[in-house]
Amino acid sequence: MIAYIEPYFLDNDADAATVSTGQSFDGVPESLDIQGEISSGDAAANIAGKDFGGMNCMKPLAVVRPLGPEDIAGAVRTALRSDKLTVAARGNGHSINGQAMAEGGLVVDMRSTAENHFEVGGGGAFVDVSGGALWENVLKRCVSEYGLAPRSWTDYLGLTVGGTLSNAGVSGQAFRYGPQTENVTELDVVTGNGDVVTCSELENSELFFSVLGGLGQFGIITRARVLLQPAPDMVRWIRVVYTEFDEFSEDAEWLVSQKDELCFDYVEGFVFVNGDDPVNGWPTVPLHLDQEFDPTRLPRSSGSVLYCLELALHYQGSESNSTVDERVERLIGRLRFIKGLRFEVDLPYVDFLLRVKQSEEIAKVNGTWETPHPWLNLFVSKRDIGEFDRTVFKELVKNGVGGPMLVYPLMRSRWDDRTSVVLPEGEIFYIVALLRFVPTCAKASSVEKMVAQNQEIVQWCVRKGIDFKLYLPHYKSQEEWIRHFGNRWSRFVDRKTMYDPMAILSPGQKIFNRAP
Ligand code: FAD
Repeated sequence: MIAYIEPYFLDNDADAATVSTGQSFDGVPESLDIQGEISSGDAAANIAGKDFGGMNCMKPLAVVRPLGPEDIAGAVRTALRSDKLTVAARGNGHSINGQAMAEGGLVVDMRSTAENHFEVGGGGAFVDVSGGALWENVLKRCVSEYGLAPRSWTDYLGLTVGGTLSNAGVSGQAFRYGPQTENVTELDVVTGNGDVVTCSELENSELFFSVLGGLGQFGIITRARVLLQPAPDMVRWIRVVYTEFDEFSEDAEWLVSQKDELCFDYVEGFVFVNGDDPVNGWPTVPLHLDQEFDPTRLPRSSGSVLYCLELALHYQGSESNSTVDERVERLIGRLRFIKGLRFEVDLPYVDFLLRVKQSEEIAKVNGTWETPHPWLNLFVSKRDIGEFDRTVFKELVKNGVGGPMLVYPLMRSRWDDRTSVVLPEGEIFYIVALLRFVPTCAKASSVEKMVAQNQEIVQWCVRKGIDFKLYLPHYKSQEEWIRHFGNRWSRFVDRKTMYDPMAILSPGQKIFNRAP
């Protein structure tokens, strides 16, 4: 038996290798006896040393590509036997601030388990999928094989099921169905104690709610049971423009407060620069190459930034155009957007959900997919969103952030308080996302300036007493985490004590230190 791993840490990366059994090499202990692959040294750093944020670089001891839960439990048990080894599940590594990394620890690459589950059950009510599956693959299979689809999404689907469930998973459907964490009914989880546990609202419920939005702190999700609905054939996708934030936000709040059968299927919004800048301004609004943004429609009083409501209505191919038009007009008729600044297209449902894929491809071609992404995501209460607009949108980021600046309302009643997610007070709150892209020619100092501006915004929120929470949070000190969780901190600590008492899991979140 190997009691402690530390003596085995070596510094011989040059000989790094990937093997398929649990032999001892490159500092990786023999007790890590798993069926899948293990990589170490440079091979491991290449797989798991960076993330989408591109601002952190950490060297894991090894990357494990598990075959299934037993391998994952094996990795956790190996860490438990050591005095400092940690374990980070890595979904698709789309975190911004190193949340899926483990310096000198074991990274479990969940993508190797992507195909372990895919089973529709309950007469089409749900699908069991792997925690390591990409949402885009879940979508394609559910629609093409069953004509069904999950109800709640993220904007971009190159993310794993376990990765988004560890945060919340939010997009324009969340006002209606809640975040993705509200749309799963059962999970298989490997806890920080090395146990493999099935949990749901009724069975091991404390673990179930801990893991949802749990930032990977309590267990590694290996299977999720995701609720389904019949997939529509088509989507009418609409954008309408506003000059006044009050009118934009009142209309958005009215839309998300409508009864289910009377509302759009998707409601989002964004801020853009009032100018012809192709990355931040008017050209970002039209939905088709044939459409043009006509600035002569804007009132003279319009300010430095404008607002766009983005809406979508699902329909079946059998519905006539006039029926769809009628349904749209009933909802849109009372909105106060600028006439003449309305854009719409009809497209297949799957294409709508995969719409960000096109931006990904463009960013890959122009190199900005690989440059750093100092993104900032917050939830801001309805009470304070007007003040946030005046200071942040109209002043601090009035020239844009090189990418989308999302702002749209969500309903707190659609979020179960028992999960580990924390939210601002009040029924309506806004998600704000500053999705910064950095040109390839930019200097390192411009990334630093963006990070500094993010900090300035957060510090301004704290100073002004803005009721906000970071989404996909990132803090450096435990004091900040305590402030983040507020009166939920002691519950979070209790859950950690129960399910990961040695603080093995997801060390990249920097919430707890590994117990010696
Ligand atoms: P990773 O970054 O690999 O992991 C994230 C965290 O979860 C880590 O702490 C990791 O240890 C833990 N983890 C990973 N897998 C598991 C598992 N199976 N079990 C337990 N813990 C696990 N978010 C939204 O809500 N809505 C959006 O519209 C949205 N759009 C995005 C678009 C892009 C281009 C990007 C880069 C991110 C976007 N996100 C969005 C954020 C995204 O949800 C998070 O970054 C998420 O964590 C990424 O998933 P991932 O699979 O890459 O997870």
